[in-house]
Amino acid sequence: MNHFTHRIIRGLPLITVDPFLKQGCFAAYTTREGGVSPPPYDSLNLSFSPTRKDSRENVEKNWSIVLQALDCFPQQLIRTHQTHSNRIAYVNHPGQSFFPDIPSGVDGVVTDRHELMLTVVTADCQGLLFYDPKKKISAAIHSGWRGALADIGGKAVCKMAAMGSDPADILVAGGPSIGTCCFEVGEDVLSLFQEQWGSDALAYFTPGDAKGKYMGDMPSFTRNRLLKQGIQPEHIYWMSLCTCCHDVFFSHRRQKGERGTLAALIIMKG
Ligand SMILES: [Zn+2]
Repeated sequence: MNHFTHRIIRGLPLITVDPFLKQGCFAAYTTREGGVSPPPYDSLNLSFSPTRKDSRENVEKNWSIVLQALDCFPQQLIRTHQTHSNRIAYVNHPGQSFFPDIPSGVDGVVTDRHELMLTVVTADCQGLLFYDPKKKISAAIHSGWRGALADIGGKAVCKMAAMGSDPADILVAGGPSIGTCCFEVGEDVLSLFQEQWGSDALAYFTPGDAKGKYMGDMPSFTRNRLLKQGIQPEHIYWMSLCTCCHDVFFSHRRQKGERGTLAALIIMKG
């Protein structure tokens, strides 16, 4: 786990993105540890989704634990209403407690405001964090296979470039997500990638054990898209830990949908 450190900050276990920290930007991923939710949401479930049976009080308490550990107010927190789209919203105003005034159906947020804490939530999907230390622009992106297919990572680079970033300056971190060891898909998913990206996309799928099944490597696919947008290879930091293999993370696939949700978070501070 080069470039990442599992550490305890004011009692809360977090995995920090060290190259971002060195540039004065706080970026980290939560784990299952440190919250108040009961099984199977134990314990730091950060999703208010009504499809989960965890209580709203528990999730609010869990977010409060995160905010206190990072010495932030609820108004600094920017959450998203994710729908596996490739839409990214620019935010430049404080959030309104847990439900900020941003459009529904947004899977990424970008800002140039140093005091806003951008967050996305995941449980097998990859949480991408972007930081331009020169222009002081940050972004948090939710990238599952549908997001990868729609190139939400590449779109984030374009959005930051439109705000003045040179892609050569942008740092990108990718958190824990389902790895090629566990991400089995059918021909349908493979076909979608081939239709969208041509036969080059086939390089990111290898035949699985079962007939008609393939093992997809979404982090590598996304990495390639970022390189195509001008991100420097030495500026891409992948945690490369599979959520399905490691019980310290929530995993939609391993827990068969009965699971909590991790968060990726970034705040530029001063
Ligand atoms: Zn795995």
